[in-house]
Order: sequence, then structure tokens, then C-alpha cells
Amino acid sequence: MSSPRIVAHRGLHGVGAARENTLAAIRAAVDGGADVVEVDVRLTSDGAVALLHDETFDRLWGDPRRVSETTLVEVRELGGGERRVPLLAEAIEAIRGTGVPLLIDMDHAGVAAPAARVVERSRAEDIVEWCGAHAAMRVIREALPDAVIHQPWSAAAPPVAEDLAELRPAFVNVPHLLVGEAFVEAVHALGPRVACWTVDEGAQAAHLAEIGVDSVTTNHPERVRDAVPDETARRLAIVEQLAVDAAEAARRARCDGVGMVETKRDPADHVTEVDRAIEGWVRAVLGAQFPEHDIVGEEFGGETDGVAPCWYLDPVDGTANLANGMPWTSFSLALVERGDPIVGAIVDPAGGAPVVAARGRGARRAGERIAVGPASGDPLVGRMVATELAGAVPWPGFASLLEQLADRHCTLRVLGSGTAALAGPALGRGVAALVHRYSPIDHAASLVIVREAGGVARVLPSGVALTAASEESAAAVEGLLA
Ligand SMILES: [Mg+2]
Repeated sequence: MSSPRIVAHRGLHGVGAARENTLAAIRAAVDGGADVVEVDVRLTSDGAVALLHDETFDRLWGDPRRVSETTLVEVRELGGGERRVPLLAEAIEAIRGTGVPLLIDMDHAGVAAPAARVVERSRAEDIVEWCGAHAAMRVIREALPDAVIHQPWSAAAPPVAEDLAELRPAFVNVPHLLVGEAFVEAVHALGPRVACWTVDEGAQAAHLAEIGVDSVTTNHPERVRDAVPDETARRLAIVEQLAVDAAEAARRARCDGVGMVETKRDPADHVTEVDRAIEGWVRAVLGAQFPEHDIVGEEFGGETDGVAPCWYLDPVDGTANLANGMPWTSFSLALVERGDPIVGAIVDPAGGAPVVAARGRGARRAGERIAVGPASGDPLVGRMVATELAGAVPWPGFASLLEQLADRHCTLRVLGSGTAALAGPALGRGVAALVHRYSPIDHAASLVIVREAGGVARVLPSGVALTAASEESAAAVEGLLA
């Protein structure tokens, strides 16, 4: 069982707190540890996309006018300061860099295309998700092919494959009272996750977590957090401890020697007693704590059927560095579910601190939340991009990338650990990183860490794994590979 994402309904609001769907409510939700912030959008008469739930201003402002018959300027006259009605673009800026996605809800299709344009103009496709009316989701799917969509569902019977073919949802979004164990199993068998709304009682939230619901929308995030067994927190604590243990073993090896060094595929492909010792310890711990999961490791192999969640482990990424006295190596451990890394741990080679992340829960180094810096200026000029060799060999296109980056006054760095290179943008090291061939053993942990730090991480159709501090930097590097 994993713990569900906690979605703050209309931000964090209520008696004595911020007003719903305001920037203050969004910030309070992020600060309060919500995994996702849900907001509602409506269109003003002059086409602005504003954060409002109701059709009229009556409930919150005692003003019977309809939003759709009110101009943006008139909307701006309502409330004031922290009670002001924000634009969607302002809400996006409020969550950017926090690692917390914004879930945009809409009850009719008319606002969908304008909202999609705002998200595109804000280059926020990767930090928003979408829910609401089916017709609205259809518009979103057409406008944004990669959008994360929550498909609405209001029948007691679960959907079948044909029901999901058009919207290709990441989540099926359903009133919680309709969800039982069989429903969750049926949706999971089709691929999507299950999102429920609106759950304000701790006991019911605990039950939904128990039967495998993946996302819970609530007006009381803290109450739900306290009620559900936090499997994600348990996983994070265990992988963080393993990263600390691995860092200590690597540190000792650098002081005392690495023992016998052997080679594998070729004389530049090293393995040491340290690699095997760390992998043996991690396997013992994972086997005891997560007996239902598969394990695939760099040194001892392993297999996965692709159905059970699988741990991918590289005890020492950069063993050639370790064997040659270069102090730049990283541990890499990731839990992958249906192809997606959901938990990751690495060791930051600069200082040896553990860096961990879980999908929807942010990224942390030595316990402190990390986030990519704001993008500004040219995405490459004067910056640094990291890559790795393919073993000891430059990969096809390596020299061309080096030359093109040099033409842009951007430095290409090869430090010797693919794990550390790809995690770099999350740690403030360079604007982007890429490795020639994605391998979950070395790279999955860095992908989830960069995503959770608010950066960009993707595997291209060519097999290249690319991470970046911003979409602009990712696109600029991708352009040079074409
Ligand atoms: Mg809503």
C-alpha cells in the first residue's frame, strides 16, 4: 500500500484562514504540506481566466452578478489584498518552483481553451494537472497532448478501456462514496490511478488509503495526513538511511582503499568490494522491508515482471572514479511503478548528503526542501551542461553537442557519474544534464528528484535522458541534439 496524494481543495482555506481560491490559500496549502493544490477557474466577460468556484459572486462577496457578465477590472474591485480574486497566471507563478502541482478544475468547457493558453504562455505544462467536466477535459486533451488529466467518473461501475481511450487520463476522478476495493483494482488494471473527492473525515481517508486510492481531495489536509498511514514517509525514511549508509561506505573506501578492483565488460568498467558490500546491504534491507517488490541491481542483477513495483539500485555510480581516486561518485536507488520513478535517493557527491524525493512530496537534501532556481536570461549562454561518456567512450553526437554548446558559450562537463550529472539541475549545478542511454539503475532516482524540485526530467524517444532547471533549458539542449 502506498499513501495517497493529499490535494488541498481550493487551496487551504476556512474559518480564520485564507479565503478559498486566493493566492493566500494557495501559499497556505503549499506551506502546510499539501501534495497538490486544487483551484477552480472561470472566464470573465472579457476573456480573463480567474480563480473562482461559483457562477456568481454571491456566496463570498454578497454580490449577485455572474462572473461571465463581469469584466476583469470589475472583478479586481472585489475584495482586496489577500482576498483579491487572482488570475490563473498568478496562481501558476505562486506554485512555480515549489514542486507542488496546481490542479485546475473547471465545470464547463468554455474556459478550457483559454486556460490551456494561459498555461502554455506561462510554460507551465509540467506543473499543472486538469480536472472537471468531461467536455472541458476533451478540449484540454486536444490542446495539450501531454496534459495530466483527471477523467471525471460518477458511475458505481468502474470504467472499461474504451471509456478512457479518448482522454488518456492519468487519474480517474470519482466521488469517494462510490469507491470500493474492486473499483480501485479495476482502474489500476487499466493503467490510471484513482483520485477521490471530497474527503474530510479521517476514518474514511484511512479506509481509502487502505484500499489503494492514489489521491484524496480534502478541505482538511492536516486531518487527512494524520489519519492515513504514511507509507511514502516510511519509504523515504528507509531510502534516506540507505543513502547515508552508502555515503559512509564510500567515504571509508576513499580513506582506507577500495579493496580489490575488478573489471567487467572492459578494462574501464570497474567493480570493487565496496560496490558489492553496499548492494548486499541494500538488498537485505529492501527484502526485509518490501518483500512484495522486485529488486534489480548493478552488481547482482535481478528481474522484474513490470507489474510489481521494482527497486533499481546502483551502489556506486562512478566506480571508475572510486577506483582511480576521483572523489565524485553517487549512490542511486529508485522505486519504479509502471515505468515511473516514484521514490528516489542519491548521495550528493559534494559533501555526501543524502538527497531524496517521492512523487508528489517534494525533494530534500539532508532534510531541507530543494527547488530549482527561477529561470532568467538565455537558457544556455554562460551556463553549464553536464553529460557522461558511454563507459569511457564519447557517444555518437557527443562532439557535435560539445561544439554547439561552445558556440553558445556554454560549457559541457563530464564528471564521471550519470546519477550526479542528471540530479545536478535540482542541486543548482548547471542548467541541464543528459546521458546518452537511460537506465533506471543509474538514472531513475535523479529523474524523480529533479521533477520534485520543480525541474524538467524526461527520456527522449532516442533513449537520451535529459534533466533541466527549466523548460527553456531543456528545449534548448534538445534542439542541439536534433
Ligand atoms: Mg473544484
